[in-house]
Amino acid sequence: MPMTTAQRGGATRTVICTHCEQPNSVARRAMSVFCSSCRKRLILEDYRIDSYYAVRDFSTCGDIVVEKGGFVVAPIKVGNLTIKGKVQGQVIARGTVLIDKSGQCKGDIEAAGLIIEHGGSYDGRLRIGCAPPALETPEAPAPKPIQPSAKKKARPMSAAPETSTVVG
Ligand SMILES: [Zn+2]
Repeated sequence: MPMTTAQRGGATRTVICTHCEQPNSVARRAMSVFCSSCRKRLILEDYRIDSYYAVRDFSTCGDIVVEKGGFVVAPIKVGNLTIKGKVQGQVIARGTVLIDKSGQCKGDIEAAGLIIEHGGSYDGRLRIGCAPPALETPEAPAPKPIQPSAKKKARPMSAAPETSTVVG
């Protein structure tokens, strides 16, 4: 009997809001939704940029590929980012930023992972591998307190009748 993979390939998926970092369950094929927490619009599409593209805010829960002729000037919030062309602006990626051998990136990068291929260039500050804020559970169970043994039988010191053998 084949195992069902419906869990992963099901009708919904979870995306993290690019505005408030809260998880949202969305239809797998949805292109955009409104965040259930902050009510702002979330873009879920993947983008492929192959020309000059300058915006004030380039956010998607999907992935972005900047092709060889592409030049993105924008702060980017994204899942995974592949740079084969140019990017100028702060990048916050939930997944991996890949700077291809022809890629150039200028700006700070915050991502779970970073790959720079030989030939690719990067100029900025990095913050790699930090846990996304949404995954930090504020009400995380406190570390188990070390339970003092319920019955604390205080043994009187004098109850240790060991006579030390003095070796001269
Ligand atoms: Zn939100």
